Amino acid sequence: MRRQREGETPASPAEREPKDGSGSGDLVARGLAEAERRIGARGGRLTRWRREVLRVILEASGPIGAYGVLEALRGEHPALTPPTVYRALDFLMAHGLVHRISHLAAFVPCHRGEEEAHRAQFLICRGCGRTIELDLPDLAALLERRAASEGFAIEAMTVEAEGLCAECRLSAGRDG
Ligand SMILES: [Zn+2]
Ligand SMILES: [Zn+2]
Repeated sequence: MRRQREGETPASPAEREPKDGSGSGDLVARGLAEAERRIGARGGRLTRWRREVLRVILEASGPIGAYGVLEALRGEHPALTPPTVYRALDFLMAHGLVHRISHLAAFVPCHRGEEEAHRAQFLICRGCGRTIELDLPDLAALLERRAASEGFAIEAMTVEAEGLCAECRLSAGRDG
C-alpha cells in the first residue's frame, strides 16, 4: 500500500491543483474549530477519528473518496480500519459538515455553515473535478412537494449537475 507522506495531497480524484485555496491551513483550522463548536452545541463530540477524517476532507484539494481518506491517515495510523472511517463519515454527514457526491463516490466539506444537515445541490466539473455547492431551498422544497404528491417521503436528497466550470470552458475554448 502506498504510504502517505506528511503534507502530500491525497490520491485522485483530489490529486489536483487547489482551485480556491480551500486546502490552506487557516481554512482547515477554522473548519475544525467550527465543527467542534457546532457538534458541541448539540451535545456531541468531535472524537479523534471524526476530527482526523474531517481534517483530511478539509485539506483535500477536491472531492476525496473514503479510501482516499483511509490512505491519507494510514501513514500515521496504521491500525485504522475502513469501518472506523465510514462511521466517522456518517457522523460528519449527519451533522451537515460534509456531503457525499454519489456521482464521484467522494466527499466534500460543507461551506455553508448551517446548523443542521441540509439538502445540497452541486455543480460538478468533469474537467477539473471541482465542485460548487449551491443553496437552492426552493428547488428542494419543490421536489419534496412533488414527491409528497406521489405519496413518497424523501429521506435524502443531493442534486448533482455535471458540466464544465468557467475556467475549464475558457481553456477548452483556447485549445479548440
Ligand atoms: Zn452544505
Ligand atoms: Zn473545471
